[in-house]
Amino acid sequence: MVTRFVETLYPDWQQAFEGVRLLHSEETPFQKLEVFETPGFGTLLTLDGVVQTTTADEFVYHEMIVHPALVAHGAAKSVLVVGGGDGGCLREILKHPVERVVLAEIDAAVVEVSRRFLPTLSAGAFDDPRVVVRIGDGLAYVAETEEKFDVIVVDSTDPEGPGEVLFTEKFYADCARILNPRGVVVTQSGVPFRQPRGLTLSYRRLRSAFSDVTFALCCVPTYVGGFMALGWASNDPSLRTLGVESLRTVADSRGLVTRYYTPEVHLAAFALPRYIQELLVP
Ligand code: SAM
Repeated sequence: MVTRFVETLYPDWQQAFEGVRLLHSEETPFQKLEVFETPGFGTLLTLDGVVQTTTADEFVYHEMIVHPALVAHGAAKSVLVVGGGDGGCLREILKHPVERVVLAEIDAAVVEVSRRFLPTLSAGAFDDPRVVVRIGDGLAYVAETEEKFDVIVVDSTDPEGPGEVLFTEKFYADCARILNPRGVVVTQSGVPFRQPRGLTLSYRRLRSAFSDVTFALCCVPTYVGGFMALGWASNDPSLRTLGVESLRTVADSRGLVTRYYTPEVHLAAFALPRYIQELLVP
């Protein structure tokens, strides 16, 4: 019986969950998918041995990859999520008055297993009439779709395996092509303290397609290594000039209920420590 899960993101550093119970394990056509019940973090979803999300701390990441963009935009009607098969982003997006959300997820098993074992993440979002799930490679979706979006959330795995293509200039160029004016792309950009090169590469590649590129930070306990970075890419720098009261007006008008996001946290998230600023080299 499995009682310990060890995440080995780095050869010299591991994160161990003790006293776990394996609830599900399968080799999908794309990755190894496992679900554990843990004593301290609720239910844990892993892909290829990497922590994807836990029911205990997922709110931090899903609120911060969604709300800054949707609050700053203020009038988003169509949103694309690339990846995000656990449904956490969908749940947070549907708190806003959007008309259509497309989820382009490569692995149907992630959706099915997340609905079954981590239902609080999607919280019914997959059944919302505004949501359309497109199972397939997100790279192909953004290259082929004729739809346009106000916000694109790239909630991908790390740049290894199926997720690698979602960190390329080609992918970002197609995101720019399908983004409406005033649109913004937000990306999962890893943990700068341990993945500094990845942040620099993301910065450079996002800048190949967008004029205003920076990162927002949040602290997700099970994304080990300190701050988690979220890439922000747009061609409208005014989206990042809104003051806290303007943000609060939008958030309050929507009755936004959150556990991490606040207008103050929104602004503070973009204040980058010097060691991260220094990674933003063109
Ligand atoms: N929050 C997590 C993180 O920060 O690493 C990501 C969670 S979400 C489960 C990641 C999703 O990206 C997975 O469901 C995976 O199947 C999906 N994915 C990976 N590569 C993809 C691709 N090329 N197109 C669409 N979805 C992809």
